[in-house]
Amino acid sequence: MAKGDVLVRLDNVVKHFPIRGGVLLRQVDSVKAVNGVSFDIREGETFGLVGESGCGKSTLGSVVLGLDAPTSGSVTFDGKDVHKARGAQRRDLHRQMQVVFQDPFESLNPRMTVEEIVGEGLRIHGGLSKEEIHDRVMEMLARVGLEPGHARRYPHEFSGGQRQRIGIARALIVEPRFIVCDEPVSALDVSVQAQIINLLRDLQRQYGYAYLFVAHGLNVVRYMSDRVGVMYLGRIVELADTDDIFRQPLHPYTQALLDAIPDVDKGEDVFSHVLSGDVPSPVHLPSGCPFHPRCPKATDKCRTVAPGMRRVGAAQVMCHLYD
Ligand code: SF4
Repeated sequence: MAKGDVLVRLDNVVKHFPIRGGVLLRQVDSVKAVNGVSFDIREGETFGLVGESGCGKSTLGSVVLGLDAPTSGSVTFDGKDVHKARGAQRRDLHRQMQVVFQDPFESLNPRMTVEEIVGEGLRIHGGLSKEEIHDRVMEMLARVGLEPGHARRYPHEFSGGQRQRIGIARALIVEPRFIVCDEPVSALDVSVQAQIINLLRDLQRQYGYAYLFVAHGLNVVRYMSDRVGVMYLGRIVELADTDDIFRQPLHPYTQALLDAIPDVDKGEDVFSHVLSGDVPSPVHLPSGCPFHPRCPKATDKCRTVAPGMRRVGAAQVMCHLYD
């Protein structure tokens, strides 16, 4: 496969979580976390996924990785259905698709040494001796900027940035082709964020990984991504090349997010100062365009008719303004 070929394909992915109630625990409703998402991630590219907390972006990341089954739709990796693979093919897919979590304080087992944490994936996938695993761990620690002496220490002995380096080493040691970075710097100090972002970019340049980079910070996404998908209430409402979306945002929601820079990058709560009204509940989605209760450009049509995805130049946008 060459750089630019489709590696991961999402086809109309829906993920709803049932809400049960009553004595018999019958399904009474559902949380509509992801509502028909389609896009491709190409070999060697970074696809940025941005949106407010609760917009469904982390759920989508779990579905892409095969950790959560979609309610409908499909995810393929290198042409293979991630959720239908079984046995050796499933293990191989899981090796090739890795994740770097948001919180390096929670995602590392406090009772394991760094060597055990980083080498775990190699032990699970088998085929290497203890010495070979040790050598690979040492090589990987160096690659992510950690010292050989760190191998025998425990996670609590490290700073947040160092822990995230450990998390990255754990993901990379099994030689994946695709990594979901789920808000990988949002739990870190601003001064450390740039180091981790630069590390991820350097590693991508050297080894050609494709990233799905999930974030609420737009500046981080701008720096990292080749293309950006803006997510709102479980839908991609705009998808475009990074330069285009920052130069000429089309969707009113994207425009509001960009107006909020640099405030947005200080934290998620500032979204509420930029947009009027609260984020609607994903249990009871608004009729018509899901953004209409907060949209300054909403018309009567927006309240009743859901917009489809339209092409506008090289971009895609879900808004009646472009019908
Ligand atoms: Fe706003 Fe209407 Fe466009 Fe939705 S369809 S974003 S409500 S203008």
